[in-house]
Amino acid sequence: MDFQISMPDPESILIIGAGQAGGCAAATLRGEGYAGRIVLVGAEQHRPYERPPLSKSVLSDPESEPGIFLHKPEFHEGLKLEYLPGTRVSDLDPAGKVAHTADGGQIPWDRCLLATGGRVRLLPGVPEGMANVYYLRELDDARRLRERLVPGARVVVLGGGFLGLEFAAVAREKGLEVTVVEAGSQLLGRAAPALFADWLREQFAASGVKVLCNAGVKGIQPAGQGVAVQFADGGELAADFVLVSIGQVPNVELAQSCGLAIDNGIAVDPAGRTSAPDIFAAGDCASQDNRWLGRRVRLESWQMAQEQATVAARAMLGKPADCDLIPWFWSDQLGMNLQMLGVPEPGLQYEVRGAMDGGKFSIFGFDQVHRLRYVLAVNNGADMRPLRNLLEAGKQAPRDQLLDAGKPLREIVKQALAA
Ligand SMILES: Cc1cc2nc3c(=O)[nH]c(=O)nc-3n(C[C@H](O)[C@H](O)[C@H](O)COP(=O)(O)OP(=O)(O)OC[C@H]3O[C@@H](n4cnc5c(N)ncnc54)[C@H](O)[C@@H]3O)c2cc1C
Repeated sequence: MDFQISMPDPESILIIGAGQAGGCAAATLRGEGYAGRIVLVGAEQHRPYERPPLSKSVLSDPESEPGIFLHKPEFHEGLKLEYLPGTRVSDLDPAGKVAHTADGGQIPWDRCLLATGGRVRLLPGVPEGMANVYYLRELDDARRLRERLVPGARVVVLGGGFLGLEFAAVAREKGLEVTVVEAGSQLLGRAAPALFADWLREQFAASGVKVLCNAGVKGIQPAGQGVAVQFADGGELAADFVLVSIGQVPNVELAQSCGLAIDNGIAVDPAGRTSAPDIFAAGDCASQDNRWLGRRVRLESWQMAQEQATVAARAMLGKPADCDLIPWFWSDQLGMNLQMLGVPEPGLQYEVRGAMDGGKFSIFGFDQVHRLRYVLAVNNGADMRPLRNLLEAGKQAPRDQLLDAGKPLREIVKQALAA
């Protein structure tokens, strides 16, 4: 399905948010031949960068920092952007087509992209800026955390999601005493089946990380040079510092204040259009119908930010644009590469291809009629491409063949695609 509208090229495009989606949209606009004015406004001081390395390589190796930026400085300059780092848009006027910045500036625009991303969810009752309590979203957060990765230090990670676990793995590698505290009954509660979460918990335990599940946290108090994490059941855990990693909140306030439709994020159509003419949104701040899942979702992932930004940039120029993706996500932890295709929807039945003991396997999620709906590949990235091709083609392979680890997956998929 293409969404194409006939409209002249705008004279001026404003991109609010100079993160992954904002930076990618700017490059796409120029790549599509747009020669008009592009203003890229970013609240951070850094030019657009990718966040995945922040909880991985950047924590352990300062030398990896230059590799996180979306574009080399010369390419960035070649885009001929009016780039305003360290500038926050405080007000957007859709009728007058002007944006106001917190420092008193005004930016007129013909079309505007909201790429405002998200921010960390704060732990209720803990004052912002409390000593020895950290969050992780921005490069500066990762730099501050890196300073604390000193062998022998005690860290408590609140939240057993991908980000918290990636941090825990790096901290352990660096020789810290690490405890992961998860309120739910399993790690990765929203993102992976229990079959995998239980296995992963064992891997963390084997690496020396303590994992507490079903552990409700009541608060954090200063204690000596560090902190005490207080549990709902009355217990306490002393630590030198805490990383709070309990999810993200989309930055929708600008959109909300100018009356745009919000539905767990700024609601956009498949081309990235919001409910207001000439305003688009992409990335972590946006929610969109996902055809594979059959519902509107807001997915915080590198893949979505990249694709939605590319699509919205094309749509802003009146070109065919349609975001139609099977969700894909990756994570690196404890020296393992994890890749996921689809999401673990309720009602799926999970089966393993390969041996979990060997540390290289895939978990397949089948629906009631044995259709493959979800894949989690552990150190098995080579399985992903053929499976993506299969599902993107709307085809299926027989379940018993998929589960037969003795048969090369590429062959199984090749046959299924040809059938
Ligand atoms: C630590 C970490 C690790 C991750 N690891 C993975 C991974 O392994 N795999 C994966 O697929 N995904 C991962 N992700 C998710 C992925 O990085 C995000 O989905 C992606 O960065 C979203 O891009 P975005 O441009 O929408 O938002 P962002 O990159 O957050 O950019 C938004 C920018 O907008 C700015 N902004 C907000 N409001 C305003 C305003 N009013 N005026 C001006 N500027 C504003 C913000 O300061 C920010 O710089 C990770 C995310 C984090 C935080």
